[in-house]
Amino acid sequence: MKTFELPPLPYALNALEPYISEKTLEFHYGKHHKAYVDNLNKLKTGTEFEDASLEAIILNAGSGLFNNAAQVWNHTFYWNCLQPAVKAGESNKPSDELLEAINAKWGSFENFKEEFTKAAVGNFGSGWTWLVTDEKNELEIVSTSNADNPLRSDKEPLLVIDVWEHAYYLDRQNRRPDYVADFWNIVDWEAVGARY
Ligand code: MN
Repeated sequence: MKTFELPPLPYALNALEPYISEKTLEFHYGKHHKAYVDNLNKLKTGTEFEDASLEAIILNAGSGLFNNAAQVWNHTFYWNCLQPAVKAGESNKPSDELLEAINAKWGSFENFKEEFTKAAVGNFGSGWTWLVTDEKNELEIVSTSNADNPLRSDKEPLLVIDVWEHAYYLDRQNRRPDYVADFWNIVDWEAVGARY
């Protein structure tokens, strides 16, 4: 039987400070993300998905298995959308090709950030807000609830923010807008652009 592992975090637990604390990552990565991996391994045992890939489970499994598989996928993707603040630097923005597409769609990078922020702050309850491309390679901002992710609706994720309270409550308590504002300082635009 295939066993999923918690993938290594692509940076140190304190690398996202001062925007996301080491304590948040200890819990968010070390406890929450790990629990989704452990639950996925437990739940798939003895099912037709025992040897299936993560993507196959996400696309085909029922809700219990789907929720844990999608949360595993979403968290790994989220960590790979971020980078240490020192690397991100002062003017943290997408490179040419993606920036042009963002400008064409939203008028400016600032407008895009405003729209994405609005969607992330307004995403009711627990969920994820994404920048995706659709079947025609058009950019789109999409919000999903709970574990849901855009793979099931044939969209290609480029960027995501986790807006579950566990992503920001230790640092920002109920102030999700502060967390979303911090997020822009540590987006790894090189990684996001490479997906486009
Ligand atoms: Mn999370």
